[in-house]
Amino acid sequence: DLTTIGVDVGGTKIALGVLQGDHLVRRLSVPTPREGWHSVLDAAVHEVRALHADFPGAPVGVGVPGPLNREYTEVKFAPNIYGFRDVPIVEYMSEHIGHRIVLENDAKAAALAEATVGAARGATSSVYITVSTGIGSGIVLGGKVWRGHHKIAGELGHIISLPNGPVAGSSVAGALEAVASGTAIARDATFAFGTPMTTAEVFDLARSGDAKAEKIVQSAMRFIGSAIGDVQKFLDPEVFVIGGGVAEVGEYFLDAVRAYANDSAAGFAEVEIRKAELGTDAGVIGAALTARE
Ligand code: BGC
Repeated sequence: DLTTIGVDVGGTKIALGVLQGDHLVRRLSVPTPREGWHSVLDAAVHEVRALHADFPGAPVGVGVPGPLNREYTEVKFAPNIYGFRDVPIVEYMSEHIGHRIVLENDAKAAALAEATVGAARGATSSVYITVSTGIGSGIVLGGKVWRGHHKIAGELGHIISLPNGPVAGSSVAGALEAVASGTAIARDATFAFGTPMTTAEVFDLARSGDAKAEKIVQSAMRFIGSAIGDVQKFLDPEVFVIGGGVAEVGEYFLDAVRAYANDSAAGFAEVEIRKAELGTDAGVIGAALTARE
């Protein structure tokens, strides 16, 4: 099988891996530098060059957490990475690596990975949703990512869930991401408890019956479930896969989201929601799969 390299550029770390067949034979990660986009891409290029010493000429796919331009060469903006706006990633990285790289949105890459070797393997249509710092999604139809006319299909984090609600990043008011991401949960809890709280702490408190914490996480899970039910009615995919840090909370989260999704689907269909299987590897594997095309 073809050997390819996948790079997943995130807000806190850059993860890389070497894909052969269905498996990563090498994986590594480095913290995401915070001195602007050059510093981030330079760090990624540095690690790719090191991998190229062992896997010469391996094609490179790069996933980034923001919508791409129509030509698929630049990220328009990455709401959750400092300094990422109109970044010419393909041009810059290709020049420094010595051959042309391919670019993909992080959630679309992870969607391809889960559909090809993960939880949605065998399904003819699937929607992958990542709930972490932001919320993103990817649609896979017949084994291929559906990118849409402007290539922004699946930007589920920016649908309006709460008209006139809070604004997050560079998005619209009341976006799903602004009311239900890990960031939103931590923000609401920090306000409600009057002390800095992490998303994991809020879920722990909620599970142990704390009413204030429960209200916050139920609200987030309801927004996510409602959006999933809407996507079921609109696109009617065979299966949904949920990944990202917040989904790691496990059955407490998934069961609630399933219930809210079925409320929202309102009897039109039974919503099938599976937990992601590839964990944090999904983005890297998906980027490497993209490089095979
Ligand atoms: C971005 C998406 C991305 C998601 C997850 C959102 O804010 O708009 O493109 O997939 O975050 O990283």
